[in-house]
Amino acid sequence: MKDVFKLLLPAPLRELIRKAVLRGDTVHCPVCDRGAIAYLPSGSPPRPHVLCPFCGSRERARMAWLFLKERKVLRAGLRVLHVAPERCLSERLTSLPAVKYTAGDKFTPGYDYPPGTIDLDITAMPFAADSFDLIMCSHVLEHVPDDRGAMKELFRVLAPGGMAILMVPIALERAATDEDPSLTDPQERIKRFGQFDHVRLYGRDYVDRLRAVGFEVIEDAMTERMDAASVFRFGLLRSEVVHAGIKR
Ligand SMILES: [Zn+2]
Repeated sequence: MKDVFKLLLPAPLRELIRKAVLRGDTVHCPVCDRGAIAYLPSGSPPRPHVLCPFCGSRERARMAWLFLKERKVLRAGLRVLHVAPERCLSERLTSLPAVKYTAGDKFTPGYDYPPGTIDLDITAMPFAADSFDLIMCSHVLEHVPDDRGAMKELFRVLAPGGMAILMVPIALERAATDEDPSLTDPQERIKRFGQFDHVRLYGRDYVDRLRAVGFEVIEDAMTERMDAASVFRFGLLRSEVVHAGIKR
């Protein structure tokens, strides 16, 4: 049946129908500000209640965006550095009036990057000090062997008064970060760090590393001050915490 639709209807029309069918009021995506009948399942194995059917946002992008809106960070003329850019957020950021937007990622052969993205090593960035008012760098540092070097660089290019969103997976039951640079076997990394290309599993001392390079750290477990209905409606994960670094 699916194949018949594919043959008979051109892709843009299929997309229109899909969006019309999914429009609703059960959930509301804070990123694209649209209501839907549900978030779609995603991941392997698939988890339910993950993907916004309209902008493709996932839980942590929605949480980061809510955080930025709540703290009134988003404004005209913002200079933004978006590392490993999530498409849904890049669409919103680039539509801010007079925004100066730079997107960068460490290019890996075989992967596609949004147009305009530059190949970027965050431990040695080609930007002057104090260049950005907002840095988005979520779920990146757990992949970077020299994360302290990366934190130093992120702090350097952030302008005084600016904010860096630096979310990472954290095992909150652990006091200390678990890392072992000699561990390169993908299966062993999955077992110990949670994903084949993670080089560590952060513990509660993550904030100390950020403070050590100069950041003032905001740690916000946003879902703890929300009712269950809002957590469901915005499609957030209770295990996710926003970590943001401020440069004074
Ligand atoms: Zn959305």
